[in-house]
Amino acid sequence: MMSRLPLFPSTGEVNDRGHLVIGGCDVVDLAAEFGTPLYLFDETSLRDKCREFKDAFGSRYADITVVYSCKAFTNKSHLLLVNEEGVGLDVVSGGELGIAHSVDFPMEQVYFSGNNKSREELRQSLELGLGRVVVDNFHELKMLGELVNEMGCTQDILLRLSPAVDPHTHKYITTGNIDSKFGIPLVLGEDAVVEAMSMPGLNLLGLHFHIGSLIFEVEPYQESIKNLLGLAAEMKRKHGFELKELDIGGGFAVQYTLDAPAPPVSFYAEAITSTIIAGCRELGLKLPRLVVEPGRSMVARAGLAVYTAGVVKDIPNVRRYVSVDGGMADNIRPALYQARHEAVVANKMPESETGKVTIAGKFCESGDILIWDIGLPPIVAGDIIAVPGCGAFCLTEAMNYNASFKPPVVMVREGKARLIRRRETLEDLTRCDVV
Ligand SMILES: *Cc1c(COP(=O)(O)O)cnc(C)c1O
Repeated sequence: MMSRLPLFPSTGEVNDRGHLVIGGCDVVDLAAEFGTPLYLFDETSLRDKCREFKDAFGSRYADITVVYSCKAFTNKSHLLLVNEEGVGLDVVSGGELGIAHSVDFPMEQVYFSGNNKSREELRQSLELGLGRVVVDNFHELKMLGELVNEMGCTQDILLRLSPAVDPHTHKYITTGNIDSKFGIPLVLGEDAVVEAMSMPGLNLLGLHFHIGSLIFEVEPYQESIKNLLGLAAEMKRKHGFELKELDIGGGFAVQYTLDAPAPPVSFYAEAITSTIIAGCRELGLKLPRLVVEPGRSMVARAGLAVYTAGVVKDIPNVRRYVSVDGGMADNIRPALYQARHEAVVANKMPESETGKVTIAGKFCESGDILIWDIGLPPIVAGDIIAVPGCGAFCLTEAMNYNASFKPPVVMVREGKARLIRRRETLEDLTRCDVV
C-alpha cells in the first residue's frame, strides 16, 4: 500500500512508537489529552498556504489581492492568523462578517458575497465600511443603492456574473454554469453594468465570478476570464466602463485521496494570470487588479479529524464496519456529496493493511458513513483513526444531530498544542432553549 502520509499536513511523520505525528505532536497523545472526536490544524501548513497563494499569483502579476473565503473554516484564532499573513477575507453572511469584526479584522479588506443578502446584512456592511460588496443580482443592486442613499455613504462594489461555464465538478459544488442560483447571467451583464454605473452612491470597480469548488482543470477559469474580459471591453466601448478589478473567485482543488492528486497553486496561477494578460492586451484593456478567493485549498489539508474506533462488526461475506465516535455531525461531506476521504490508524502507522473496512459514524442515519471499503490494518476498539483533508467545510457544516457536541479544535506547531475551540457541552446545546 502507498503511504497515506502525503495526504496529511507537510509536518506529518511517524515517530518511534509507530504513531502519527503532526506539527511535532503525537496525535495519539493529543487524542488522550483532548478526547475524541478531535480536529487538529497544523499552523505551519496554514501559514505556508497563505504565502504560497500570495507568491504564486504575486510573482506572475503586478497587482493582486488574496482573500480567504472563510466559509471553509471560521475560527477566531485562524482569522487572526490570516490577517497576520496579509490575506483579506471573503464572507458570505452577516454572521461571518460579525465574527471577523469581533477579532478586529480590517474591514476594508473584506469582500461580501452571497446570493440572497438581506437588507440588514447590507446595512451592517455599510456601517462597518467593508472593502467590497460583491453584488449578486438586480434585487441586491437596487437595495444597496437605496441604502447608500438613505445612509449618505458610498460603497465599492463588484458585480458577480455567472460566466456560463461548466467546471466539471459535483453538481452540488458547481456555481457558475448558466442554470445557477448564483450571479447575474452573462447575457444580462450589460444591464447590470449600466444600472450600477448609474447609481450615485455605488462605485463599480469591476467584475467577479466564482464557478464552483474542487476544480481540477484550468480551462473553466480561462473560459470565464475570456467571457468577462469580453464583456468588459464591450462595456468600455459602449458605456465608458473601466475594469479596475477582476475577481476570479476560488475553487482550487485539493488532494483528498491518493488516486486524485491536485495541481499546485502555481499551475492555476500561471494559467489565470497569462490568460488575463493576453486577453487584456488583445482587447486593449488596462490590467485590472486580480483578486483570488481561495477557501478550501487554504485549509483542507492543514486539518485532520481524529476519532476513536468503537464497535467492529462483521457481516459474513458482506462487509466489516468499524464505527467511530464522530461522523456526519462533524463531517457531512461524504453524506452530502459523496466526498471521499482516506484514513490511517494513528497508533499503528507501520502496520500493513490486512483487509477492507467501512468507517461508519455513530449518528442515526444509514447515510452516516465516512469512508467505504478502505484498506487498513486490523482495528480494535480503542484504536485511533485519523482522517486527513478535514480542514475545510467539515467544521463549518457541523451540526448537533443526536445532541452531539461539536468537537474541539487544536492548533499544533513545533511540538506545542493550543486549544482554539473547546468541545461543546450539554449547556451549549440547551443555551437557546426557552422553558
Ligand atoms: C465558496 C466561495 C469561494 C471559495 O471557494 P473554495 O472552493 O472554497 O476555494 C470563493 N468565492 C466565493 C464567492 C465563494 O462563495
